[in-house]
Amino acid sequence: MTKPRIAIIGAGISGIILARELQNIADVKVFEKSRGVGGRMSTRYAEQFAFDHGAQCFTARSKAFQRFLQPFIVSNDVAPWLGKAVNIDNDGTISPRFWFETHLVAAPNMNSLCKKLAVGLDIASGVEVAPLQEKQHDKWHLQDKAGADLGVYDFVISTAPPIQTTNLFGAKFNVAEVAMQPCYALMLGFNKKWDRDWIFAKVRNNPIKLIAINSSKPARNNEATSLVIHTRDAWTKENLERDQKEVEEILCQNFSQLTKIDYQEAAYKSLHRWRYALVDETKNETFFDAQNKLAATSDWSTNSRVEDVWIAAMNLAKLVKSNL
Ligand SMILES: Cc1cc2nc3c(=O)[nH]c(=O)nc-3n(C[C@H](O)[C@H](O)[C@H](O)COP(=O)(O)OP(=O)(O)OC[C@H]3O[C@@H](n4cnc5c(N)ncnc54)[C@H](O)[C@@H]3O)c2cc1C
Repeated sequence: MTKPRIAIIGAGISGIILARELQNIADVKVFEKSRGVGGRMSTRYAEQFAFDHGAQCFTARSKAFQRFLQPFIVSNDVAPWLGKAVNIDNDGTISPRFWFETHLVAAPNMNSLCKKLAVGLDIASGVEVAPLQEKQHDKWHLQDKAGADLGVYDFVISTAPPIQTTNLFGAKFNVAEVAMQPCYALMLGFNKKWDRDWIFAKVRNNPIKLIAINSSKPARNNEATSLVIHTRDAWTKENLERDQKEVEEILCQNFSQLTKIDYQEAAYKSLHRWRYALVDETKNETFFDAQNKLAATSDWSTNSRVEDVWIAAMNLAKLVKSNL
């Protein structure tokens, strides 16, 4: 008997987990518009620097996620991020900050867990799936943006943000109003070791929300300093369409004022704009349309936590399996 064909849009953690869970009962094809896998569990490389410019770390509260991670912890593909966390006030005052649970990271980079999980899956990278046309003979005929044929599928699952899933599925996708917050990631690389005693700072009353010393994470190059700065939701929204050079300059100056580190000494500087970074307010509902054979999940259906996204993808895989 021929297996049903499933197309999964997006090769972040959701898409990859869905593909792994469904590959035994279906022919699964994953389409990813970026060059690599990982989605928002992403890493940018620049010579001696490496920046996890999306998710910084994750926690594992449920037994199921702990069990899933266990082999990767044993193989050092996932490891605890150890060190001192602090709060920094707008005037530069530093106070202790306590991490009450283990903060895990993928090693050697944040995208390496997805890369490992993607081994053996059929993934087409650099392919942006175009909005779906009406079904023909009860099948979905997918195309890319340029109109190239991507094949015929029984089931299509999107793991793209709500606005993009609405664009793909049209009015059939009825949870589109979940709002996502944007975030800037400023990446700074210095040609020297990090010499402060903290590795993570939550910043108060400043456009900067956090400073994460990525080179302090396990299995990174700590001979140089790679650090990532994320911005506050409200400030990001207000400055989303501002000239990107101006945004970079404001953040650099704030960074220097807060830390007394001269940003002009940075050997590498780059700004990334996440238009859809984090869920504003979750609806707690995965989209599943058994009649049209369409489904969608990502953090908008749960929370912007890697663990919650993993749980939602596992649950959706079960639902799809029982409805194929
Ligand atoms: C700045 C930032 C900080 C964060 N911090 C944390 C943190 O500290 N801890 C934590 O647990 N979580 C954090 N998160 C959230 C976490 O990264 C996400 O919830 C999680 O990675 C979402 O995974 P996903 O696979 O559902 O979606 P994504 O990772 O967004 O994957 C969706 C994929 O779909 C692709 N795509 C979209 N449209 C198309 C199309 N038409 N065709 C083909 N491909 C398409 C995209 O390119 C993308 O790769 C953070 C996220 C950001 C951005």
